[in-house]
Amino acid sequence: MSTCPCGRPLSYSQCCGRYLDQGATVPDCETLMRSRYTAFVRRNHSYLLASWHPSTCPDLQPADLEGTTWLGLDVLRSKTGFKKGYVEFRARYQDDEKTEHSLHEISRFTHHKKRWVYLDEIEAWPGD
Ligand SMILES: [Zn+2]
Repeated sequence: MSTCPCGRPLSYSQCCGRYLDQGATVPDCETLMRSRYTAFVRRNHSYLLASWHPSTCPDLQPADLEGTTWLGLDVLRSKTGFKKGYVEFRARYQDDEKTEHSLHEISRFTHHKKRWVYLDEIEAWPGD
């Protein structure tokens, strides 16, 4: 059994596959962030669009997901509040020239149509 790309010690079907393939409701923003990382790994374009707030969703094309090989995700901290939440993470990836990069981001999440969605990246952890 291989573990889920998001790094949780579960199989894909027990973890992010529940959201990507089966439409289960994501319980909190960390789980949403992990499932979106897995969607980047698996190039699940429709899931990324569906979990992006319409006000900030870019004109993402399926081809935009090609050329990047995702190598791992570390969730540094997360906070889920009432209809808003934050996740700080580091993700490693390799570009199409096989150069490795590290992406460090604090993501902000909110509710849209009663579901967690990604809103945007913010500069600093709230309250610090
Ligand atoms: Zn997962």
